[in-house]
Amino acid sequence: MLELKEIKKYYTVGETTTKALDGVSVAFRKQEFVAILGPSGSGKTTMLNVIGGLDNYDSGDMVINGKSTKTFKDGDWDAYRNNSIGFIFQSYNLISHLGIIDNVELGMTLSGVSREEKKRRAEEALTRVGLKDHMHKKPNQLSGGQMQRVAIARALANDPEILLCDEPTGALDSETSVQIMELIQELSKEKLVIMVTHNPELANQYADRIIEFSDGKIVNDSHPHKERPKPDQFNLKRTKMKFTTALNLSFNNIRTKKGRTFLTAFASSIGIISIAVVLSLSNGFQKQIDATQTKTLAKFPITISKITTTDDATALQTNQKEDEKYPDKKVVIAETSAADQAQHTNQLDQEYVDYINEIDPKLANNIGYTRLANLNLMREIDGKVKQVSLSNNAADSSESGSMMSMMSSMTGVGVSSFPKQLEADGTNFLKDNYTLLAGSYPKADTDLVLVVDENNKTNINALKNLGFDVKNEEELSFDQILGTTMKLVNNDAYYTKLPTGNFIPNQDLQTVYDNTSNQELKISGIIRAKSSASMALLAPGIAYSDSLAQEVIKENQTSAIVKAQEASDTNVMTNEQMDEATKENFMDYLGASAIPYSMMIYPNNFKDKDEVLDYLDDWNKGKSQEDKIIYSDLAGTMTELTGGLMDAVTYVLIAFAAISLVTSMIMIAIITYTSVIERTKEIGVLKALGARKKDITRVFDAETAILGVFSGTLGVVIAYLATFPINSVIYKLTDLKNVAQLELQHAVILVIVSTILTMLGGHIPARMASKKDAAIALRAD
Ligand code: ADP
Repeated sequence: MLELKEIKKYYTVGETTTKALDGVSVAFRKQEFVAILGPSGSGKTTMLNVIGGLDNYDSGDMVINGKSTKTFKDGDWDAYRNNSIGFIFQSYNLISHLGIIDNVELGMTLSGVSREEKKRRAEEALTRVGLKDHMHKKPNQLSGGQMQRVAIARALANDPEILLCDEPTGALDSETSVQIMELIQELSKEKLVIMVTHNPELANQYADRIIEFSDGKIVNDSHPHKERPKPDQFNLKRTKMKFTTALNLSFNNIRTKKGRTFLTAFASSIGIISIAVVLSLSNGFQKQIDATQTKTLAKFPITISKITTTDDATALQTNQKEDEKYPDKKVVIAETSAADQAQHTNQLDQEYVDYINEIDPKLANNIGYTRLANLNLMREIDGKVKQVSLSNNAADSSESGSMMSMMSSMTGVGVSSFPKQLEADGTNFLKDNYTLLAGSYPKADTDLVLVVDENNKTNINALKNLGFDVKNEEELSFDQILGTTMKLVNNDAYYTKLPTGNFIPNQDLQTVYDNTSNQELKISGIIRAKSSASMALLAPGIAYSDSLAQEVIKENQTSAIVKAQEASDTNVMTNEQMDEATKENFMDYLGASAIPYSMMIYPNNFKDKDEVLDYLDDWNKGKSQEDKIIYSDLAGTMTELTGGLMDAVTYVLIAFAAISLVTSMIMIAIITYTSVIERTKEIGVLKALGARKKDITRVFDAETAILGVFSGTLGVVIAYLATFPINSVIYKLTDLKNVAQLELQHAVILVIVSTILTMLGGHIPARMASKKDAAIALRAD
């Protein structure tokens, strides 16, 4: 059934070549007990390994059941070892971390026998070798003879055709040896048994045939056999180890070294812990920031101003090459500054104002306007009529100064007219954002409010311009201010035309004050920004409703001074020459235009703001750059800014934490490598049982996978537990509650990352393990 022709196997170590087998030709019968006898180093084990397919020969031919092994590939050898060969070693080579039954089942596991069948056959084999009562023990609980019986049962379980025994009684006392030899002899009645021994007595007593070896050659054969040529009858079932089997093997192995596994997992989980903590902190901080921003910045308006800057202000700066700089040309180039290039004039007209007014009140209920229109105000103080104004500027500043101040309010902070409410039952801007300190919220358009900051301070100029004689830091009682009245005078009553055609404010103040067309304005309330609204939108000072401003404009649009100014290119008051922009501003100042200088839309919440922005973008669709209306969204810019900053910090921290992850990956590689070395014998046994290279890799991959999952989970759990003390420290330091929050999805991702990384780290040693030469692995101690 088995024939070796001219088999040569030479080992070369350095300069010396050992002829372990030197042209061995021999044939074996289907059933016989062959003893290979010879002194140490004569090539007996090599012969056995060649027959068992553990050690590939260099030349010659081995023929099994008519099939030459010359054409064998790795898989064929694996299948051959698994199906046809049963190995019995001198040192038993049981896998110590597996139970006895598991050891016996191992070969069948590789050939994919079902669970029940495996168990039945293992029990049968163990009963046959006389171990019925010891089946549920661990290998190290057995005597040497019993362990060899288990090894025999393992070799028998897969019902091989050939049993290869390498000094099977070498480690046993004589009494036990006899029992084992008798068992092997009995098996040789149904199988080909080839036994290596250096003991001639043993060979003579039990073997049917003795082949004597010396220096890699057969020197004597007591019962030679001539094999007749046969057709190829060779047919093998491929072996395959399931990943679950690999997992089971590794799990058992890991169980035997709990302490070490735990330490390794803990050490390698440190990377995961640090990343998880960084993630949970940044996550929590981002949430805190978002919440604060939603609370405060939601009250921050979208601003549409006549003069604005385009977003791509920085994009205009070209990337100039270094060598193009410092030209030799003797010229000077005139250039518009980048800031000026970025300046954009929004062509606001009635159509657009209407468009804004049509915004769905559900999205934004309040719209504020800044107008350049001046209110002509007079107030009687101590029996004398004086001109007063609702301005925060120092009293001696010119009128263009007050225009500048209005223009500077483009960002929406510090305006003095409060927004118009689109829907009566919607959010009321003043009530929502300001606390009433005294008096009442404005009811009529002619009601004014005094705005104070969180310290009850207000702008001194606002009071001075109203005719209050106050010094810095002077305290006024609410009653001194509340109820203050003044007269609003229209242009026709306020300005008189001189015979020269120029207009000047009427100097007879008492007459102007007494004019019956005047309206009376009254400070009806004192209000203070709520503490939650960190941005006080109305500047401390006097604020009035936009309806009042609109009324004034409506009345003044047809006034004589506006008509006259419309027709003239020089200032009708001072005769100064004016360019178009100055004229336009002056006309606005006189109340000639109903178009506001800027508009502020207050979205009802953060989410609605996006819809409002979409609405505004719709207007610009298909319009040229020049005709576009560009808005500014300060809150959005700030959110993007802080969000980006937080992300950047997070990335940097994670990068640092990742370093420890890489360190732990290297550590896992070293641990796996150690494990490979420790399990060298096991690798040899698995190969002798027919495990493929892949299966060996799998066993170690499974081990690192278990380690990875374990250390990942450990890391995530520790990080989660760490969030509690971290939160209490942060709470003590900053008053922020529950900042560190580990999200489930992050936890899951981290466990996966840990598993993948440890598997990567362990895979290289696992591959090394699979490439180990089985014959050498089995020789290892
Ligand atoms: P035996 O089993 O008869 O004691 P072996 O078959 O183990 O002999 O060894 C035969 C010869 O081959 C010995 O000289 C041994 O040193 C050599 N040999 C066996 N295995 C190796 C190996 N892996 N590398 C180098 N030499 C080896």
